Amino acid sequence: MSASSTVLPEKATHQQTRTYNQQLLLRALHDDSPLSRADLARLTGLTRTSVSDLVGSLIDDGLIEEVGRGRSSGGKSPILLRVAPEGRLLIGLDLGEAQFSGAVVNLRGEILRSASLPLEGRDGEAAVDLVFQLVDALCADARSPLLGIGIGAPGVIDTRTGTVRWSVNLDWADLRLGPLVESRYHVPVLVANDSHAAALAELTFHRRPRPNNLVVIRVGRGVGAGIIVNGQLFQGDGFGAGEFGHVSLGHGGAPCRCGREGCLETRASMRALVDAARAVDPAITDETGLVAAFHAGVDAVRAIVLAAARELGLAVAWLIGVLNVHNILLVGPVAALGEDWLAEVRRSARSSVLDLLARDTRIEFGHVHDDVVVLGASALLMEQQLGLGLAR
Ligand SMILES: [Zn+2]
Repeated sequence: MSASSTVLPEKATHQQTRTYNQQLLLRALHDDSPLSRADLARLTGLTRTSVSDLVGSLIDDGLIEEVGRGRSSGGKSPILLRVAPEGRLLIGLDLGEAQFSGAVVNLRGEILRSASLPLEGRDGEAAVDLVFQLVDALCADARSPLLGIGIGAPGVIDTRTGTVRWSVNLDWADLRLGPLVESRYHVPVLVANDSHAAALAELTFHRRPRPNNLVVIRVGRGVGAGIIVNGQLFQGDGFGAGEFGHVSLGHGGAPCRCGREGCLETRASMRALVDAARAVDPAITDETGLVAAFHAGVDAVRAIVLAAARELGLAVAWLIGVLNVHNILLVGPVAALGEDWLAEVRRSARSSVLDLLARDTRIEFGHVHDDVVVLGASALLMEQQLGLGLAR
């Protein structure tokens, strides 16, 4: 099965209909396993005969498996089915700023193996080579067929063509990363913005029931958001939705990597916090030192961190006012700052937007931290290739 669409065209061919129906079954099993053939017929509206036929070919294809028998409702006890976790494997990559990391992931979003390589200042073609080295290392002992490779990268990414339109720290502009990786490994490759990938990971693997709308804000060295609207990733007209880390707060401020001044990223990112904390205590040189000083209650550091939390809270208030989304999650290295930081973001956001909107909005830490981008890139690939995960 290699369909890339979950919408059935009006005049579908026999093969399109079959693929669509297979995706219906896979999705039902992915969302709620194990199920019997009778359950599947009831849930999808397909006939028992069609279900049996489609299930047979999905089992032959290794995508689903039988897992014992369920409770009988009178007659013979029914055989239960589920998605075969390792019927296909995926490779997910997170092209982070200090290192490129990746993992081999199964169809349940479980990480089977991971690897990472330090970036060490590489950019341009050298950074592309590092992507190849990482995939080579991960592919080395994959036992099941590879469904494809999902890549989460910083910057503005055209997911339709796999083109990195702009990624400042990797010095990539209009780089056709997807096709480059595809031509080397001969499997489907999907490239997405890292914050978008983080949002997909939360939606796909960690939210039950899945919310219709969700904003996941990732705060690390940069600040960016992934926005889910009506169960789908909203990428914007130019794939830049959620790039609010590079919106200038408009009152001067430090120069930003993007070339302007006073962007949210220069005030609220972990990089900005480390820089500001270093100015008051030169012993603080990295995120670990910053987090330790914050938790130790160093007054000057607490003041810096909480002021930054308030700035982020204001930006969150704008998101609430514009989108009225009830679920807002914060993920990334910033989670190490814990509840005090989160409470300040929450306070600032809630006090800056209509109470009617604020009181129904939950602002929380997300569930996945370290592997959020790797899992999200895998989730997007799974959706594209098997119709699993996002659409309901
Ligand atoms: Zn900027």
